Amino acid sequence: MGAVTLLPASRRDNGWFETLEEAPPAAPLIGPTEADVVVVGAGFTGLAAARRLGELRPDARILLLEAGRIGNNAAGRSSGFGIDHAHNIRSEGFAESVEFEQQQIALNRAGLAYLDEAVTAHDIDCDWTWAGKTHAACTERGVADLEHFATTLDRIDEPYEVLDADAMADRLGINHYTRGLHTPGTVLMQPAALCRGLAANLPPNVVVHEETPVTWLDAGPPHDLWTDGGRVLTPSLLLANNGYLAGFGFYRHHLIPVVTWGSMTRPLTDQESASIGGHRTWGVIPAAPSGTTVRRLPDSRVLVRNVYSYSRHSLAGGRRRQRAGRSHRRAFEARFPGLADVPFEYTWGGPLSMARNGEPVFGTLADGIHAAGVHNGTGLSRGAICGKLIAEMMCSESSDLLDTMTTRGRPNRNVPDPILGWGVDLYAQRLRLRSGREM
Ligand SMILES: Cc1cc2nc3c(=O)[nH]c(=O)nc-3n(C[C@H](O)[C@H](O)[C@H](O)COP(=O)(O)OP(=O)(O)OC[C@H]3O[C@@H](n4cnc5c(N)ncnc54)[C@H](O)[C@@H]3O)c2cc1C
Repeated sequence: MGAVTLLPASRRDNGWFETLEEAPPAAPLIGPTEADVVVVGAGFTGLAAARRLGELRPDARILLLEAGRIGNNAAGRSSGFGIDHAHNIRSEGFAESVEFEQQQIALNRAGLAYLDEAVTAHDIDCDWTWAGKTHAACTERGVADLEHFATTLDRIDEPYEVLDADAMADRLGINHYTRGLHTPGTVLMQPAALCRGLAANLPPNVVVHEETPVTWLDAGPPHDLWTDGGRVLTPSLLLANNGYLAGFGFYRHHLIPVVTWGSMTRPLTDQESASIGGHRTWGVIPAAPSGTTVRRLPDSRVLVRNVYSYSRHSLAGGRRRQRAGRSHRRAFEARFPGLADVPFEYTWGGPLSMARNGEPVFGTLADGIHAAGVHNGTGLSRGAICGKLIAEMMCSESSDLLDTMTTRGRPNRNVPDPILGWGVDLYAQRLRLRSGREM
């Protein structure tokens, strides 16, 4: 196989990570070692997989190798919605097949349950709250999207509550939205704190090495992995590194790497918080594609997320970051006009990996090499369950949920760069335009 051609960048700009206590120094892998299983990547997928492998094989030596710091990766840069439904309520196929949608919801809920179990058992301090999510609209088109969503939820027999403009203003304390649709099964949390807490409470036979990018793989088995300062021999390798698995030569022409951006204000003063009113914490997902996600956080900050763009996993700041920051500013001021003077303290990007046909990577890629990833927008719950299930598959367990994943399709092939990049950026631009005031 050879050199790993795509490695994550590391930046200290992620508001979730930066507002936690400074992490103890990393313990990178130094020198040669052996392991029964190596998991590459400590996002939601890798953390769940390492935990499940540790539970099922208590006598095995399991290494979890992470290129950067846990919680400063895509997982810890996310907006912290642990979602049970499909994220994209507007997708044409949503609820087209009742059975398929119910399977997807069952998967997401099993992922949330696995996380909930860990959070409860280890008392992980990450603001874990079963708050639900509110899809919000402020345009006629957005309202129509919510109506479509309500019809599809009826079809799959899922509960929801419709909120009119007054109810939205009462709940959120802002007058921006004309309609809302609240569904109860979503968890809100501090995602970097969750990642860090999960890593700190893995079974004792799992050894974690942060700041340990795998830079070279000689595929076996045994597989010979080289890191910046170390080397591991293992019969069993799990790639839980999402889009970066293309850097190991798998699905090179099938994954669509995009970056999306978040910003976080400083904490609002008591006076500023009181001037808004409404509930002290909430999470809003836009009705329109490519609209703005907003959260009011337990520490009185406000988070906004919008803007997608194609990126070969470079988080390079520069122009794109500035454009995202400006877009976040507009979105914030439109929703909180009385707080126009409140600055953002952090603006960060995070890498995502999509597949055009929405299908995941899951299963065995080569002798002793397995992978799970590409969760198309609901990576928190889906990453957790796919990590758990791939570990179960590697330990020859069986279940209906595992069958659901092994029988799914796989990502389809894309046109080559630069045409892919142009196409994705054009599509993102079209969605931005369609979103209008929902941005
Ligand atoms: C701004 C933003 C907001 C988002 N909001 C949400 C949300 O609210 N809810 C939701 O469900 N999803 C959200 N997502 C998506 C979610 O973050 C991803 O789907 C999720 O992180 C995928 O989890 P993962 O573990 O599969 O991959 P990742 O979190 O990407 O983890 C992969 C890990 O592999 C590591 N890695 C890669 N290559 C190597 C290597 N060679 N050696 C060692 N380590 C390596 C990386 O450093 C990384 O830590 C958001 C994403 C972004 C960017």
